[in-house]
Amino acid sequence: MGILLVEDEPNVVSVIKRGLTTYGFEVSVAANGVTGLQMALDNNFDLVILDVMLPLMDGIQVCKRIREQKKTVPIIMLTALDSTENIVGGLDSGADDYMVKPFKIAELAARLRTLLRRSGAEIQANNSFAIDNLHIDTESKIAKRNNEVLKLTATEYRLLEYFIKNQRKVLSRIQILENVWDIDFNMGTNVVDVYVNYLRKKLEKNGGIKLIHTVFGMGYIMKEGDIDENTK
Ligand code: CA
Repeated sequence: MGILLVEDEPNVVSVIKRGLTTYGFEVSVAANGVTGLQMALDNNFDLVILDVMLPLMDGIQVCKRIREQKKTVPIIMLTALDSTENIVGGLDSGADDYMVKPFKIAELAARLRTLLRRSGAEIQANNSFAIDNLHIDTESKIAKRNNEVLKLTATEYRLLEYFIKNQRKVLSRIQILENVWDIDFNMGTNVVDVYVNYLRKKLEKNGGIKLIHTVFGMGYIMKEGDIDENTK
């Protein structure tokens, strides 16, 4: 899935890009309206994510220009201004949907999937992930260990999904925080440790082997077996 993200805020770009990549999307970035418009017209992206407040040309103008060229690519607008005026302006300019910042990456990914389905684009992203005897289905959001359904809270589920999609990679607490909690978070990384402990207890409740390991000074890793010497 080729997604064009037109956004000038480097922090927002990195969070969205990293987040959507874990959901199986391929993200290209333009940092201003003029470059964004050019890239949208010159390439066949499956979808465009367009910020409203952009340097050189605002998102509403970019959207109008794309539509003037009769491009039918799905467009989703990002706006920090939650006034109805801006939202209506965005939709009038030809956008298909909008999201008000801050938002959760999981919600953005869900909106993208809906738009892509509507536009007939195929989603090749896999829905099921596994490690050891743990399986999750990202459509039904059901996690099972040894064929028994795990009773997880929404946050624990998102944390587990992030771990399982990134298994065998060392994930820092900041990375986990950015991908599992809100874009615009005001909390410390302690919440990550707390939830990792909740999740571990549920995963290991019926004697399952340990899957989430602490990597001292770095973060966490989901893998089978003991932690490697080099990541101790
Ligand atoms: Ca902006």
